[in-house]
Amino acid sequence: MELDLDMLKRMVRDIISTRPDEIGCDECFEKLDRFVELELAGKKAAEALPLVQHHLDHCDDCREEFEALLAALRATA
Ligand SMILES: [Zn+2]
Repeated sequence: MELDLDMLKRMVRDIISTRPDEIGCDECFEKLDRFVELELAGKKAAEALPLVQHHLDHCDDCREEFEALLAALRATA
């Protein structure tokens, strides 16, 4: 059987580029309200939603969003 090199290269690239333990901005934003809720409740948001915490550590945009949301909710609480 002859190997299809192009197919093989695509497969390898898929494996390398796929990081199931990381989420994108959309998913982070979807979970952000839950994350903030936990944070405000004094619970360990980072432990409950480690992927969100991880994203916030690496994404300035979402970090800003998170801090703004947190500040807004604290102000209304
Ligand atoms: Zn982000």
